[in-house]
Amino acid sequence: MLGSQGLDAVFGGVLGLLVGSFLNVVVYRVPVMMYRQWLNDAIGNLMKVDGVPSLWSLVFGPNANTPPALEKAATAAAEQVDALPAFNLMRPASRCGHCGAPVRFYQNVPVISYLFLRGRCASCKARISLRYPVVELVTGALFALCAWRFGLTMTGALWAAFAALLVCQFLIDLDTQYLPDSLNYALLWLGLIGAALGLTGVPLASAIWGAVFGYLGLWLIYHAYRLATGKQGMGYGDFKLLAALGAWLGSGYLIAIVLVSSLVGAVLGSILLLAGKLAHKDIPISFGPFLAGAGLVCLVAGPDTVRQWIPFAFPLG
Ligand SMILES: [Zn+2]
Repeated sequence: MLGSQGLDAVFGGVLGLLVGSFLNVVVYRVPVMMYRQWLNDAIGNLMKVDGVPSLWSLVFGPNANTPPALEKAATAAAEQVDALPAFNLMRPASRCGHCGAPVRFYQNVPVISYLFLRGRCASCKARISLRYPVVELVTGALFALCAWRFGLTMTGALWAAFAALLVCQFLIDLDTQYLPDSLNYALLWLGLIGAALGLTGVPLASAIWGAVFGYLGLWLIYHAYRLATGKQGMGYGDFKLLAALGAWLGSGYLIAIVLVSSLVGAVLGSILLLAGKLAHKDIPISFGPFLAGAGLVCLVAGPDTVRQWIPFAFPLG
């Protein structure tokens, strides 16, 4: 018989499989939503809006106007963007990326549908990426772990949210080289709120300094590297992600997170190299997946275990 801890883990695991299915949608759609917003903003900035000075005049002086040809093009582009159908996490319903056939609810059961359909679309038999069931299984395992360790409590729910957001950032950065602000800030705020409510076990001051030094530390490294080499080694999304991890684990863990992320980078780099993904050396691989991976390693191993692995990474904490 399963004890109550086991039942919690089973419940968490099933919930995690369902959430994992949703994360697949998030990972695909959030970047597209972000790109659409950027395009919309860029177009809007070129167009004249009544009473509001155009960006053109703010940059080139009060008497400068957006060149007519550019404004005309922007207006035409705005019509195209406005005519696009709604695109968010709910709409449109999931479709096969190959033939466009709608995915029925019974074809959307995590993992099981994939096995039942033998990894192919029910209509056109195009291959469905193995990544979908893998993301569902990993999310299920992470949620089961959170429920096992913390029970069905607010603390368990909070760490499950931590895991879910990191899974998203890991994959989105791998796909696009971006770490969307919407997810980074959700992670940061949840970490600070969790500390303020005493749910993550990190003193609030340590969470705040973790966020501050996480951001500043990478910011300094970034600018030092840029001045020394003229290259950009990472992006501002990385600073925000380390800030968020600092809020969750506390300022004392920052050096450890960076060390673990190098380890994750070495492992992940080897796997991608073996899988032939890095055949072209000019494909940039960003720092975000390593940071997100380090956060997940800290969750799975437990912060105290990380402290035992690399005691020298805690000079102050
Ligand atoms: Zn299809």
